[in-house]
Amino acid sequence: MATSTVQDLELIRESVKALCEKFPESYWRETDEKDEYPEEFIKALTNEGWLSVLIPEEYGGAGLGMLEAGIILEEINRSGGNSGAGHAQMYTMGAILRHGSEEQKQRFLPKIASGELRLQAFGITEPTAGSDTTSITTTAVKQGDKYIVNGQKIFISRTEHSDLMLLLARTTPKDQVAKKTDGLSLFILDMKEQQDNITIRPIDTMINHATTEVFFENAVIPEENLIGEEGKGFKYVLSGMNAERILVASESLGDGKYFVDKSVQYANERVVFNRPIGQNQGVQFPIAQSYMDIEAATLMRDKAAKLFDAGENCGAEANMAKYLATESTWKAANAAMNTFGGYGFAKEYNIERKFREARLFIVAPVTNNLVTTYIGQHVLGLPRSF
Ligand SMILES: Cc1cc2nc3c(=O)[nH]c(=O)nc-3n(C[C@H](O)[C@H](O)[C@H](O)COP(=O)(O)OP(=O)(O)OC[C@H]3O[C@@H](n4cnc5c(N)ncnc54)[C@H](O)[C@@H]3O)c2cc1C
Repeated sequence: MATSTVQDLELIRESVKALCEKFPESYWRETDEKDEYPEEFIKALTNEGWLSVLIPEEYGGAGLGMLEAGIILEEINRSGGNSGAGHAQMYTMGAILRHGSEEQKQRFLPKIASGELRLQAFGITEPTAGSDTTSITTTAVKQGDKYIVNGQKIFISRTEHSDLMLLLARTTPKDQVAKKTDGLSLFILDMKEQQDNITIRPIDTMINHATTEVFFENAVIPEENLIGEEGKGFKYVLSGMNAERILVASESLGDGKYFVDKSVQYANERVVFNRPIGQNQGVQFPIAQSYMDIEAATLMRDKAAKLFDAGENCGAEANMAKYLATESTWKAANAAMNTFGGYGFAKEYNIERKFREARLFIVAPVTNNLVTTYIGQHVLGLPRSF
């Protein structure tokens, strides 16, 4: 993996910023209002190679690290955009990269890097299991050289805009395994090829996230699309979670910096009682406080990303970065709403849209309660609650 200098990182920021300028806030407001997938933006991001930076050069990517990837997503969100439309591909492909066979890497990664194939869908969550992933009930049963999938997933985003889904399913019933984390397997499901055996139903949510319910009825996955060993899928998903948390922290930090930038500008310009509202400490302090929190969370994100890129254990830092980034950004989001007063609610100011979008990361892809249990139990050695 290539190591970036401070100047390289600045260049990445500037280049992503230049791309984002072609997609102003009016673009994001319109796609949000129409509940439309930002197709042109994702195409541009793919064509400029930003979505494939984590793919090694030998498979057609840029071979960069987690810090660079984080900075890309951060800049998108800081510009007023929403990287949720494409972020998953950065971490889903990691499952192939880290646990897939050489044949799978050759078959999928170059096409993902070029944009010929999209691996934007990640199918974990189920209605009855919720955060308790080992209780999922979607099954993949081996029949000859294929797996037959039956079951249901919920809140699976971008399924209608992706060719492939990284799917977690049970291959051995929970009551037949020694550990509840055994018997789950990870697959690459070709959704286009299996469209007759998959039903996708969009879920109307408070943000434009193209999230859906997915029903599998005898969907077929050839055995060569099993990632790694059968029954070890949970371990592979866990190993990708640090990447996911660092990237989500980065997007959230981008939102937080957006709120601070906008609040500062507005608080300096808006004059009420013959003075800029930012002169009032009731307005100024929440902005300054959330700025400090966001700066601290950025340091934690940087630390987590550097550890990840060095191949070191970063579980604690990745979780802390996700928590600190999303909570400090939520503070900044509220500060922005208060700073803008009534105008925060007016759609043309974009604050209400970003406010809705920023809220997601406290819940998904993992809730901050679950993140906190990781710190309590795995870092501090407190008793396990589940
Ligand atoms: C817009 C959107 C997009 C999404 N995209 C995807 C996707 O692409 N792929 C995918 O697989 N999933 C996706 N998700 C699902 C998301 O990951 C889950 O919603 C999230 O993990 C929480 O699961 P749940 O909604 O079932 O909540 P539950 O598990 O039902 O939890 C509800 C509440 O109870 C708390 N809780 C539960 N158990 C405990 C405990 N033991 N200790 C403390 N608190 C607890 C939780 O923290 C939460 O606050 C998406 C969700 C949304 C909203």
